[in-house]
Amino acid sequence: MSEEKKVKQCLTCADCKVKSCMHKQEDKYPRFCLTAKVDKELLAEAKQEYFDETNQKLALTAAEIEGQFYGKYTRVQETVEFIKRLGAKKVGIATCVGLLNEAGVFAQILKKNGIEYYAVGCKIGAIEKSEIGIPPENTLTKGEQYESMCNPIMQAKILNEKKTDLNVMIGLCVGHDSLFLRYAEAPTTVLVVKDRVTGHNPCVPLWTYNGIYSKI
Ligand code: SF4
Repeated sequence: MSEEKKVKQCLTCADCKVKSCMHKQEDKYPRFCLTAKVDKELLAEAKQEYFDETNQKLALTAAEIEGQFYGKYTRVQETVEFIKRLGAKKVGIATCVGLLNEAGVFAQILKKNGIEYYAVGCKIGAIEKSEIGIPPENTLTKGEQYESMCNPIMQAKILNEKKTDLNVMIGLCVGHDSLFLRYAEAPTTVLVVKDRVTGHNPCVPLWTYNGIYSKI
């Protein structure tokens, strides 16, 4: 990793140890508290958005899942329940081809629950990486073999054409997920976050920050 750079950084929620906003304990807010000094107009604007039909459905369904299955359901179960309660008729699956087995199992679970799905792998279209300007040094075979690029924009475009009601992302690479989210028209939820080193659990280095990972 690169050398530590000095940045001018104000204190924000990432520096908070009390999270007193959870129960609005105003006397315990830290001095830099973002809730204490929140822009009231912006807050009202954000709140109003929850009354948009789609937003309200998503927010209330998310609350049902949290309220009824907190600590009881795995993320897979929560996702299936979320889909059912939203009444999503067609689910798009945007998956990494390295996780096709997992995507296949998830697809079977959807099928068994009577949910239609359409899955698109990240290498869709098999465009060679150099065609969009990816240099050989940034390919896995260093240019020695045809290497298809990940194509999250095409994944999104296909799922848009299929008119999916909800998309589920399975293990798209960092950055490719950003592109998918930029182009997907249906609301998207994330089932798997890719982390090849930790068995897809990016929290591991964060939990062990003061241990071996402190170097990064
Ligand atoms: S809003 Fe205030 S209390 Fe809540 S996490 Fe941020 S700093 Fe902490």
